[in-house]
Amino acid sequence: MNYRDVFGEILADHHESPRNWGVLPDCTRVEQGYNPLCGDKVSICLLLDRDSSGSERLARCTYEGEGCSICMASASIMSEMIQGKSIQELQGLIEAFREKMQGSDEVFLLPAEDSGEDITALYGVKRFPVRIKCALLPWTTLKKGLEAAHAK
Ligand code: ZN
Repeated sequence: MNYRDVFGEILADHHESPRNWGVLPDCTRVEQGYNPLCGDKVSICLLLDRDSSGSERLARCTYEGEGCSICMASASIMSEMIQGKSIQELQGLIEAFREKMQGSDEVFLLPAEDSGEDITALYGVKRFPVRIKCALLPWTTLKKGLEAAHAK
């Protein structure tokens, strides 16, 4: 079974050409995530600052990792969606994605080549329950990192 055929062009492209890959030397927080079910590892660098109105936001985010194609594609898609977002917006995105993957919503859009939003391509992973944790790992790691940075 070819990965491209099963998960579609969007996930294959993110897996092959990861966005925002790398280490951020001046980041505020590095958060590591691990999914023992599959062996996925991800390390996310967060640079938090404040916008002109004083609200905290994620100025920049990069990541590195080693894992399956679903986890790596998910991290790349996430990294494109979260740059410059406020903490509140990020919490909303994380929660919405978690709900999509673990909730009772059974609508699968796969492959979702022309939805206009790459993240919808990940919803199809729900057809493979053991892989849901792979798709969620970057997002739960981001959540942990934001909470840890905030607690300081
Ligand atoms: Zn995995």
